[in-house]
Amino acid sequence: MMNVKAYAKINLGLHIVGKREDGFHNIETIFHRINLSDEITIRENDTIALTVSNSLIPSNKDNLCWKAVELLQQKLQTSRGVTIHIQKNIPVGAGLGGGSSDAAAVLQSLPMVWNKQIDKTALETLALHIGSDVPYFLGKQTAYAEGRGEKLSYVQIGIPYWIVLVNPGIHLSTQWAYKTLSEQRNGTFPVRTSLANAFSLSPMQCMITAENDFEEIVFAAHPHIGEIKKKLLQLHAINALMSGSGSSVFGLFEHESDASKAMAFFGKDHFVHLTEPNFIPE
Ligand code: ATP
Repeated sequence: MMNVKAYAKINLGLHIVGKREDGFHNIETIFHRINLSDEITIRENDTIALTVSNSLIPSNKDNLCWKAVELLQQKLQTSRGVTIHIQKNIPVGAGLGGGSSDAAAVLQSLPMVWNKQIDKTALETLALHIGSDVPYFLGKQTAYAEGRGEKLSYVQIGIPYWIVLVNPGIHLSTQWAYKTLSEQRNGTFPVRTSLANAFSLSPMQCMITAENDFEEIVFAAHPHIGEIKKKLLQLHAINALMSGSGSSVFGLFEHESDASKAMAFFGKDHFVHLTEPNFIPE
């Protein structure tokens, strides 16, 4: 039996570079882990059985963890099964990559439970097959990402700020966000300053100036999400940004006292979470 933690991510900036012929979009982003995790229990079994603490999440083949098990069975040529329980703590449809992180945790842990070997490249291929964000979750550090999000350069850098995460409880689909943005831009995407250059030149400056291209369309459809960003800035965040395609927004705070005030303000009627400066997952 194994117990593993699957940590959520935030995007420290997100640029949509353009639409590709295969229907995906090329993006540029910086992925960073926060101290909020799902807990996954994995036990060997003859068949596949999955339970999830949150009944709104599928516990069948539609669950990304189930896909991870099937892909491993094929790759490792085994018919062995597994019992998985997911204690869901990460809000869903929240731009925090919860499902992707769960799937990556299963990809990494299940071969050990089965006493099988799998190399890193094979794991990366299976991960991308499940979803664009999944390869990032095979590592732990902050990473600059390009392509669909799978071309990763890990960076040895901490974020020296308190991260206040606010989730308004609105479920946003990533597919909807890409479709709406693509229609609005009519297929043309402006050339942007490279996030990679900005980040390698001055990571601190980049954290303060980072932008998320999805904000415009999401804030137009759900003004309350834009108001959360505005309020985080009023409460002295040095930057506040939406994560991924929403709906979560995070604020970076220099002072713990300001972060605590923001936690208290939003905690009254939102899901909130605080990550300490320079956090790295275990
Ligand atoms: P991303 O930023 O990667 O799009 P997200 O945080 O917006 O992720 P998720 O929480 O990963 O979104 O879930 C998106 C959808 O995936 C949900 O509607 C859910 O039905 C489905 N899903 C499949 N497996 C899982 C899982 N293990 N945990 C959460 N959602 C899952």
